[in-house]
Amino acid sequence: EYMFPSDPGSVDFDALNQTFESWLVERRLEVLVPFLLFSMAGQGYGTADKMPAFYGLTWVHPNFVYEASMGLFAMFKEGYETLWERLAASSAIDVRLRTAVRRIHRSGDGVVIELEGSGEREAFDWLVMAAPMPQALTLLAEASEEERSLFGEYNYHELTISVLGANGTGVLPKDYQLLTWAERLASQANYYRMSLQEGQVQRKMYDSDGDGGPITIRNDFNIKGLKRDVVAILTLSKPNATDAELTAAIDRDVSKYGLEMDLLHRKRWDYMPFYSLEEVVRDRKPWRIWNLQGRSRTWWVGSYASFESVADVLDYNLQLLNRRLCQ
Ligand SMILES: Cc1cc2nc3c(=O)[nH]c(=O)nc-3n(C[C@H](O)[C@H](O)[C@H](O)COP(=O)(O)OP(=O)(O)OC[C@H]3O[C@@H](n4cnc5c(N)ncnc54)[C@H](O)[C@@H]3O)c2cc1C
Repeated sequence: EYMFPSDPGSVDFDALNQTFESWLVERRLEVLVPFLLFSMAGQGYGTADKMPAFYGLTWVHPNFVYEASMGLFAMFKEGYETLWERLAASSAIDVRLRTAVRRIHRSGDGVVIELEGSGEREAFDWLVMAAPMPQALTLLAEASEEERSLFGEYNYHELTISVLGANGTGVLPKDYQLLTWAERLASQANYYRMSLQEGQVQRKMYDSDGDGGPITIRNDFNIKGLKRDVVAILTLSKPNATDAELTAAIDRDVSKYGLEMDLLHRKRWDYMPFYSLEEVVRDRKPWRIWNLQGRSRTWWVGSYASFESVADVLDYNLQLLNRRLCQ
């Protein structure tokens, strides 16, 4: 019901030509703005006063608000990775890991991929481009001007998860599950523009808020009943922040709650690819991607074509399947 509106004729582009906050205020829905601090900014989806209405509406649609207000949240006990592993194991698809692709050649009747190292070539009927943009664009031997214009540049937020060994809960309740630095959420507007310059990825920072502090502690020890006292800390970091700076910011802020933590593991993601307001409304990039689907033997899927959530990627792919492939 609230999937990507693939028919631009059904879209009110004048209404979309504003930030999400302005869209809500126009409809006397400003009561939702504080809720968005947690449901948007707290998830790394940007602040409502900066993000184009298109992305706010994609994520915070009526079903989401209803489910959130009813507390209908759940997580997979064994995590998402196990879900994909089981899906792969229970189907006949041939998944080849650690097979680096050097180049992809497309022609009217098929696709040839060239492997890194051996240079071995293999032919296929179709290409499903599910690797992140803009980096994956460099794999295409002959990207068209339209493909370069659509996939060559994106805005991103960087999401960092630090897994830390905790030694107790300090002054926090023993059974706490989440601790959010709520006052920090409103300033999580920084983003960077990722583009390709001579085949190399460049990241240019915008709206830097000058604060690389953590957003939320998720107490996995309490939530998942782990054997070891381990928590995950989410930071919306700057790509140029060093690991030492991220750790120092965490130490500084958790120590205020009497917590002492040891870093066990950290991963940083280019997270939430999005277009600017002009790119959405004036240039209509999301709809131009839809028009490109299936041309040059290629399907474009993943968060760069839809939105950074599993449900949105799956919804978009289902729509592609039903509207374009099954006709
Ligand atoms: C920490 C974290 C927590 C999240 N939690 C949730 C959640 O609770 N619920 C939710 O709905 N969403 C969540 N998300 C978002 C969700 O994971 C993504 O939106 C979703 O996985 C995007 O799917 P995708 O297919 O676009 O990209 P990905 O799932 O990132 O898949 C892209 C794949 O391409 C591979 N790849 C990259 N380059 C190449 C290459 N050159 N050749 C071959 N393969 C390549 C990568 O290894 C990766 O496996 C979370 C994201 C993060 C980072």
